[in-house]
Amino acid sequence: MTPVTCMKGRNIALFGLGGSGLVTAHALMAGGARVSAWDDGEAARVKAMAEGIAVVDLCQMDFAAFDYLVLSPGVPLTHPAPHWAAAKAQAAGVAIIGDIELFCLERNAIAPGTPFVAITGTNGKSTTTALLAHVLRTAGRDVAMGGNIGVAILALAPPSPSRIHVIECSSFQIDLAPSLNASIGILTNITPDHLDRHGSMSNYCAIKQRLVSKAAFAIAGIDDEPSRAIAAQADAAISAQAPVANGVYFENGSLRLAKPGIRATQIASLAHIGSLRGTHNGQNAAAAVAAALQLGVPLPDIAAALQTFPGLPHRMEEVARLGKTLFINDSKATNADSAEKALLAFDDIFWILGGKAKDGGIASLRPLFPKLRRAYLIGAASAEFARQLGTVAHEFCGTLEAATQSAARDAAASACATPVVLLSPACASYDQFANFEARGDRFRDLVRAMIQP
Ligand code: ADP
Repeated sequence: MTPVTCMKGRNIALFGLGGSGLVTAHALMAGGARVSAWDDGEAARVKAMAEGIAVVDLCQMDFAAFDYLVLSPGVPLTHPAPHWAAAKAQAAGVAIIGDIELFCLERNAIAPGTPFVAITGTNGKSTTTALLAHVLRTAGRDVAMGGNIGVAILALAPPSPSRIHVIECSSFQIDLAPSLNASIGILTNITPDHLDRHGSMSNYCAIKQRLVSKAAFAIAGIDDEPSRAIAAQADAAISAQAPVANGVYFENGSLRLAKPGIRATQIASLAHIGSLRGTHNGQNAAAAVAAALQLGVPLPDIAAALQTFPGLPHRMEEVARLGKTLFINDSKATNADSAEKALLAFDDIFWILGGKAKDGGIASLRPLFPKLRRAYLIGAASAEFARQLGTVAHEFCGTLEAATQSAARDAAASACATPVVLLSPACASYDQFANFEARGDRFRDLVRAMIQP
């Protein structure tokens, strides 16, 4: 844990007692702050009380008594309307911050300038974060990885000159971290997302920009307009579409390093790395490699570490090979844009899709339909997706169990050399599963049961 000693003696209101809220309350208390915590959900309040956190109905409190409101990133700060806790703090002139801000203030106080890589982007944050942490650990570095990727930042060991914090930051977390001053800031890409919470595209971009513009060394993508504008001020560029003048880019299946005035050099081929399939992962790998280089990891060590990256669960995760069939769990693909990445990465696809559909469905994926050998529909979106699939052979399976069985059978019986049974649902999972992780776990279990019945 990182005790927040810089808040010693301060009076802190904390709203949101999910996983990171509980950790933050403990880190503040360990640092000597007085914490009054609340959550709209009773179960969360009961859990916090059981852990010895002072649960106080903040709605009844005069916020003038507080020095800060620490807000969970899931709680609306500005749009569509400020949550009542944020509105009360704003009315009382109390600063509203999040756990990453507390980390930054503590780092500034006890270990200024220590290695701290902050990673953002609309897509690819988790993959880039996990890959960079893997490369650094393989090179023998002490790495503290967390943030939006799962472990709350204040649950990690404190900042120190010999430890590298590798932190995934969502736009909500950046919004709550005005002092965010990473030693290396990474922006992978920007496409419209979460605009209901950020009000406008320009506000969303400005939030992302802050992470890189306040970093000591900035790495930014140039493959979309908003990122390219930000990359103009960056120290290194990354791309999966075109060579860059200074930075790392992905071309013809390989990563290449470019420096002004020197011929670009090959770093590594990603062609046979199953965990880094697809052009989008070329962009993520370019970002992670650019940061590892800046942190002094030698090129050959980086190239070797890429080969052993295990990948992240539910993101084009190679579950198994059964005979000639490859089974891929891409349950994280909850919309068409994400499913597109998987369809691009494979041929001869037996596609399991469906769930709770998002706006637009799968219409945008039509150019990739020639890669489909058959589609297996599950969940609430089945009828709508069947219409959008048009002439693609498909069947209504209802459940993931039935779909997996049918797809495996058809793939094995097909004439394809390497058929791929791909769970890439292009839908949220909530109609049939608690979350995308539960859906992907179930798929993995089903496939493994086929191998070892
Ligand atoms: P995030 O943490 O930003 O949600 P992840 O690394 O978890 O990103 O990847 C989630 C999904 O986003 C992947 O399954 C893939 O479909 C898509 N994706 C990953 N990286 C990129 C990228 N660089 N560009 C576009 N899409 C990507």
